[in-house]
Amino acid sequence: MKMKAAVMYEPRKPMVVEVVELDPPKAGEVLVKMSATGICHSDLHFFAGDVPTPVPVILGHEGAGVVQDVGAGVSSVKKGDKVVLSFFPSCGVCRFCLGGQPMLCDVGSASPLGTMPDGTRRVHRVQDGSDINNFSMISTFAEYTVAPEFSVIKVDAQAPLEKLCLLGCGFTTGFGSVTNAIHIRPGDTVTCIGCGGVGLSAIQGAALSGASKIIAVDVHESKLALAKKFGATHAVLSRGDVRADVKEIRAITDGLGSDYALELVGGAHMDTTAAIGYRAIRKGGTLCLVGIGATSIKALPIDPLSMVMLNKTVKGVFYGQAQVKGDIPRYYELYKAGKINLDDMVSKEMRLEDINAGFEAVIRGDEVVRQVIRFS
Ligand SMILES: [Zn+2]
Ligand SMILES: [Zn+2]
Repeated sequence: MKMKAAVMYEPRKPMVVEVVELDPPKAGEVLVKMSATGICHSDLHFFAGDVPTPVPVILGHEGAGVVQDVGAGVSSVKKGDKVVLSFFPSCGVCRFCLGGQPMLCDVGSASPLGTMPDGTRRVHRVQDGSDINNFSMISTFAEYTVAPEFSVIKVDAQAPLEKLCLLGCGFTTGFGSVTNAIHIRPGDTVTCIGCGGVGLSAIQGAALSGASKIIAVDVHESKLALAKKFGATHAVLSRGDVRADVKEIRAITDGLGSDYALELVGGAHMDTTAAIGYRAIRKGGTLCLVGIGATSIKALPIDPLSMVMLNKTVKGVFYGQAQVKGDIPRYYELYKAGKINLDDMVSKEMRLEDINAGFEAVIRGDEVVRQVIRFS
């Protein structure tokens, strides 16, 4: 079938919104008509070339839509079901999926190759039939997508997909990083570095977990103001000066440092943001690295002597250590109960045709948390 999609032919060049050909779903796959997709900061890392991906490619990995058709053997969803798409494929049968770590799935680990699990692609250029690479096996910057059954999670008929698309990546990554990966006790202190979509979700997780002080750190005043709305108790305007930022965080925590810190930015300056987090935690504290760092960063400035002598822990946390099949429906319940706020995370809605302007806004960084592309 023919559909419109935003195709990236080269990093840093505007994407081209054009008509492409989409294959029908094969066995174990689902055709989804997209309702909404967020523009996640991680898309920007691939758009900017900070993290390489094969081109041409249709980016987009934070989507929700309605099932239009299913391939042979699909049993968990049927035509007409509303679904959230999980950005990281998890097959359900490899040793990591079976061991309770679906975010380490062997099939998911192959998704950067730009293909579906069987090694082939579903989208082609109409001009010459050549393949267009897949992204995260869901490629949501398109009117339709063919996804593996294990990447779609059914939600109920009332679900507001233009909000729930955030559960496909940003919210689940941030919220899960504090509610799955670490164990905040009521009264603990938490520093959240970066107050975009992932950061605000982490702040919500820390607030629900009973943290006494939630210190938001960002380079933009506007994002710090928003962070307070989502539960941050203190705000530190970062100037990228590790020593100055850490001094402020320590002052807020009575000179101790916080129990936990989370690096929620990634990108080309992750060495600085991680250093702030590491030095901001107390003796025995834990730093979680959540942001997707640029491949140009080969090492972090963390001195091993202090790490041992001060018993500090630094851990990588991918996709909020989510068990997506259980966590995404659970987060939807929290949303329905009014305990988490997705509505105010969406700062702007737009059409697919406006995607390049949307990316420019993400690059500027101070205007938007999440822009959501809506499809008619
Ligand atoms: Zn994302
Ligand atoms: Zn697996």
